[in-house]
Amino acid sequence: MIPYGRHSVDQTDVDEVLKILQSDWLTTGPMVQKFEQSIAGFCGAVHGVAVSSGTAALHCAVYAAGISRGDEVIIPAITFAATANCILFQGGMPVVVDVEPDTLLMDTAEIEASISTKTKAIIAVDYAGQPCDYETLRKLADKHDLILISDSCHALGAIYHRKPVSQYADLTAYSFHPVKHVTTGEGGMVVTGNDEYAAKMKRFRNHCISTDLHERQLRDDWRYEIIDIGYNFRLTDFQCALGLSQFRKLNGFLQRRREIAHMYDHAFEASNQVRPLKRTPDTEHAYHLYVVRVGGAGDGSQRSRIFTELRSKGIGVNVHYIPLNHHSFYRKTLGIRKGQFPSAEAAYRRILSLPIFPGLKDDEVNVITDAVNKSVSAE
Ligand SMILES: *Cc1c(COP(=O)(O)O)cnc(C)c1O
Repeated sequence: MIPYGRHSVDQTDVDEVLKILQSDWLTTGPMVQKFEQSIAGFCGAVHGVAVSSGTAALHCAVYAAGISRGDEVIIPAITFAATANCILFQGGMPVVVDVEPDTLLMDTAEIEASISTKTKAIIAVDYAGQPCDYETLRKLADKHDLILISDSCHALGAIYHRKPVSQYADLTAYSFHPVKHVTTGEGGMVVTGNDEYAAKMKRFRNHCISTDLHERQLRDDWRYEIIDIGYNFRLTDFQCALGLSQFRKLNGFLQRRREIAHMYDHAFEASNQVRPLKRTPDTEHAYHLYVVRVGGAGDGSQRSRIFTELRSKGIGVNVHYIPLNHHSFYRKTLGIRKGQFPSAEAAYRRILSLPIFPGLKDDEVNVITDAVNKSVSAE
């Protein structure tokens, strides 16, 4: 089976991890800061806060933004569960808005219509690795005094108007899960230019202890204080060593993802039955996913048939994502219902994510495009 995503780990990565396993620090050592500085530097941000997952990164961002009981945060209908859950973890209320039908990015007009006196933040999702309309989002956030958080778990390396996506949001969250651009096994990071947010998140990932072990050792003091409820969201040093080693290959990884996307674009150019999502102007896509729309406007049965056919041929297609209002938990908790987000729901019945990852070979791409083109014309 060709998976839809897969990590690329080589011997240099293994060697870097082994070095740290034989060193004095397995966790909270020098590699953490090095990894943070590398990713933050790449994003043009002052601070990076490494944590144990992308979900933890979003949770930290929501904490730093001061979201608490009664606060509303606007999110798109098509995203991973963690985008909604990070708000709920802190007692806030996600307010879901529909997406644009051709990009599946948040519909900015819908955001404006959903802002209330309780709205505190927006979490924008760079779906598939394509940046949201950050100029509009930034203006909206400033006009209504909202904090702009970016769930860029798909978009490490994406560029919006010649700047990294993290230059527009107040807080930007990344994931280092094996299917993402750079992996630490599990891991994540928030980058920000705000000193206060960074300090808050560094405490939050470590039980909200007022000082860390190094500071106490420096001062020869055993005293510390718990100043709020926090978590253990720390990332280990050997994971950061893997992340750093992976980060050195990021530009090559991005280039290969873009090459594969280009091959897919070319293969489906002449097809009116396989329609890739629309690209926005003056942006560079990071291609965590390559998403096409197949089948007619019906109930999704054509897409299901194509999905099953491709899977039976060993092609690991997937569907990202089931809209939030199609999960019973979110209907119950957020008071949303089926049919409420027509663009997201219509897209959901047609989308397929095709395999895309740096190790995918040209001949595998050809096998996939042939199989997709054959399957869509088999009606
Ligand atoms: C991967 C992902 C996350 C969560 O990341 P984990 O590292 O798996 O916790 C959050 N949001 C989006 C959009 C993602 O794709």
